[in-house]
This record gives sequence, structure tokens and C-alpha cells, in this order.
Amino acid sequence: EQSLYRLIESRFPKDPNELLLETPEGDKWSYADAHASAGRYARFLTDMGVKRGDRVAVQVEKSPQALFLYLACLRAGFVFLPMNTAYREDEVDFLIGNAEPSAFVCRPDFEATAKTIAAKHGTANVFTLAGDGSGSFTDHAESASADFDTVDCAPDDLAAMLYTSGTTGKPKGAMLTHRNLGANGLALVQSWRFTADDVLLHALPIFHAHGLFVACHCVLLSGARMIWMPGYDREKVMELLPRATVFMGVPTFYTRLLALPHFGKDQTRNIRLFVSGSAPLLAETHREFSQRTGHMILERYGMTETGMNTSNPYDGDRVPGSVGMALPGVEARVVDDENAPLPANEVGNIQVRGANVMKGYWKLPEKTAEEFTEDGWFKTGDQGKVDDRGYIHIVGRAKDMIISGGYNVYPKEIESLIDDIDGVVESAIVGVPHPDFGEVGVAVIVKREGSDLTADAVLGRVKEKMANYKVPKAAYFVPELPRNTMGKVQKAALREKHKDLFK
Ligand code: ATP
Ligand code: MG
Repeated sequence: EQSLYRLIESRFPKDPNELLLETPEGDKWSYADAHASAGRYARFLTDMGVKRGDRVAVQVEKSPQALFLYLACLRAGFVFLPMNTAYREDEVDFLIGNAEPSAFVCRPDFEATAKTIAAKHGTANVFTLAGDGSGSFTDHAESASADFDTVDCAPDDLAAMLYTSGTTGKPKGAMLTHRNLGANGLALVQSWRFTADDVLLHALPIFHAHGLFVACHCVLLSGARMIWMPGYDREKVMELLPRATVFMGVPTFYTRLLALPHFGKDQTRNIRLFVSGSAPLLAETHREFSQRTGHMILERYGMTETGMNTSNPYDGDRVPGSVGMALPGVEARVVDDENAPLPANEVGNIQVRGANVMKGYWKLPEKTAEEFTEDGWFKTGDQGKVDDRGYIHIVGRAKDMIISGGYNVYPKEIESLIDDIDGVVESAIVGVPHPDFGEVGVAVIVKREGSDLTADAVLGRVKEKMANYKVPKAAYFVPELPRNTMGKVQKAALREKHKDLFK
């Protein structure tokens, strides 16, 4: 077993001058270029006093240089710590204070604030890096010597620390090792059949496991290449898709493409694989996409703490509404609240085990201990079931489950029913406090443009189909559901908004 960078290096194309990256504008970087830049950046940061095991915090726009900075950290044994670009001063302050990095690379327009935050928490180095690759970081680092001896990190050493999205509470730092990332990357390359002939259209942000690990490692571990978009722009994606063989996205990437009337087979003809994850893909989106393009989107399931856990099969049925089966080297099971495995079709807690699972939460030993069983299963916090064919279906997060009058109500079941009503685009069910029932469901619904659907009609429909305790006690229409940058519905925000409804 070797460090992640050694693993990547061992899988470089035979000729390292083969392309790794190109931008939509036609700028190109080979594997050799990326290796050299990573060497320079590693040399520079080392000279600035950053040591093996130190965190390097990065909050920058997506650029090729940002990726090389990640590779530099892998080469030098630094712990790469990317931060959501949407985070503002207070959020950054919390993360820097928590992670205590020895360097912070930030956006140029954030430099003054970053310096204040860094000074407060003892972070010695602050550099800037802009989306076009300019900034004080590259000003210095690009002229450093590329002569850098890659550090041979141990499999258990930290390669990266990513904070969870904070959907259910304060973000937690997940400590990811070289082994975690390497094992998961190889499992994906194998399952999704990546080869050196692949071209990935990369439109995801790289501060999250999806864009940084899933997408980049599939490419880096197969000698493939990618078209590196600065962000998601559906018109641009449509234009570039014919040049790619693989596309990965969060569900909203797909719904936004489908909203373009001229999107279809023409653009997707050269693609061999569409992958979706980070949030549930509506079965409806899955079906519409296959009708329009002839492609069955492959949905997979993962999380910051574990990387990817399950995937629909490459060959074989890709089941709409399911996240497939455990990946090679990963075990997944559904258990009751006492950690006893449940039979097929029964809803319970999803747990996973394998080389992909993080070392623990940064500075939270008690939380870490709580989230693992004695025999090493990680409690994902997601609930689901395994069907007769072994496919896993996620019904939602344990924290989103509603207990109404003593009964468990799984939002997904009701959401699916409401989503099928004519005139509904999508819906979210959240639990709010209720004096009689403890908690009741509230439906928040997005209607199709021009639809005259009423709240009563929706609730009436649910009443016809489901036991009374599952029927939401109120329904609202909204223009859109609140989502974070990864397309996750912010149920905590919805709960907060409606919490006094029955007081
Ligand atoms: P926090 O843990 O801070 O509350 P988070 O769980 O949203 O935030 P992430 O690690 O980014 O942070 O997201 C992982 C979660 O995303 C999973 O636990 C699961 O709930 C959800 N998820 C990922 N992929 C899928 C999928 N294909 N279908 C349904 N849910 C998914
Ligand atoms: Mg989570």
C-alpha cells in the first residue's frame, strides 16, 4: 500500500505528456505539467514552514492551479482542507479556528479578512489565488523549483480534511487518509470502467468530495483527462458534452439541462456514463432524462466521511430512486436502533464499513466514538431499506424523520406521492412541533408554471392514499426549495421557518 500520490503516479499515462486538463478556452496541462506545478507548490509551502501533517486551508474559485495545490499537498504530506466558496467571514473564522491550518490560500477579495482571521488563530501564512490562476500564491510558488521529493506518507496519514456540508448541524471535519481516498478511487475506476480514453466534463465545485475526489480521482487513477469548467453553466455544458465521455453532476445539474427544450440526444451522443449524487435524484428526473437522451443516469450514494458507499451497476439495471449496491471493498447494511440487521424491505439505519471510511471527526473523539459501532460500522445518519434484489433505497436522514403521535413518518414516502401529482415539480416534507401529536408534517411544494393546483387538493390526495398520521397538516407553495451549492434541500431551514405553525 502506498500514499495516494504514489498510487496516482503509478497510474500516470505511459507518456506523462498526455493531457490531464484542458479548459473550455483551450488552455492545456499534461500530467507532467501538473506534477511539476505540484512540486513547485510543495517546495514553496515547505520553504514557508508548512510541515508534513499541517493543514492547508483553501477557499478559492475553481482553477487548474487549485487542483495542482491539492496535488502539492498530497506530494508533501500536507492535509488539504478545501472550504465552500459560499462561506462568509463567520463560517471561515469557525473553520480556521477549528482546523488551525498553517497556511490559508484565499480569494484576492477576501485577503484582508483572511489575514485578520489567520492572525487570530495563529495561521502563519496567507496567500491569494484567483480563478484565473493569478495571486500572491502563484506569484511565488510558480517560480519555486519543481525539484521536490514526494513524501512517502503512510496509508493512515491524513491526506485531506473536509468539513461536512452542515445540513443537519455545524459542519464536522472528516479526517480522510491516503488509504481512504486511494481505496475509494480505485473502487470507482473499476466499477465505472474508467480508462485512459475517457474525457470527463468537470463542472462540479472542488471543495466537496463529489467534485474533488469522485471526479478527479476517477481521472487521475485511470490516466484519463478532463475538461475543467470553472463552474456549472448549462448552456456551456450542452456545448461541451459532445467532447466528453463521462459527466458527473448533482441532481440539479440534470434538471436544469432538462429544462432546456433543445437538450437531447444530439449533445449526449458521445457520453458513455452520466453519474448523479450528493442529493436524491428524483425518479421522475431519471425517467425524463432517459426518454430525452437514451441514457440511464447512474446514481450513487456517498458522504464526506466515507467517500462513495454504493452505486447502481454499470451493467445491469440502474433503478430510478435507488442508490444501488455497496461498492467493491465496502459493506453496507440496514439495522434497527440496536444495530441488529433488518430483513429486506424494512426501513432502518444505514451503516457502512470499509477502507473508505474516515479515521474520525477532527477534534471530536466523543462524536467519533458515538458514530461507530463496536465492530467498526459507521452510522451514516441516513435511513433506507434493501429491496429483494439487493438494491438500497434511501428514504431520508434520521434527523428528518418525523415522529407523529408515536408513529415514524418517512418524508420520502409522502414526497414521492406528492411529486407524482399532476402540476407538482417537487416537494419537501418537514416535521414541526405540534401540541397534540408531538410533531406533524408540513408540505412545502413547488408547482409547475401555470398550474392551478391547491393545497387542499394536494392534502386530499395524500389522505386518499395514506394513513392519517402520515398526512401533512399544512401545505405551502413556494417558487423553489432552499438548496445549498450541492443541491441539498435545506430542511433545517424549512423546519425553522415553520416551527411556530401549531403553537
Ligand atoms: P452534515 O453531515 O453536516 O449534516 P451532509 O450530510 O449534507 O451535512 P455531506 O457529507 O456533504 O454532508 O452529504 C452526505 C449526505 O448526502 C448523505 O448522508 C446523504 O444524506 C446525502 N446523499 C448523498 N448522495 C445521495 C443520494 N444519491 N441520494 C440521497 N441522498 C444522498
Ligand atoms: Mg452528514
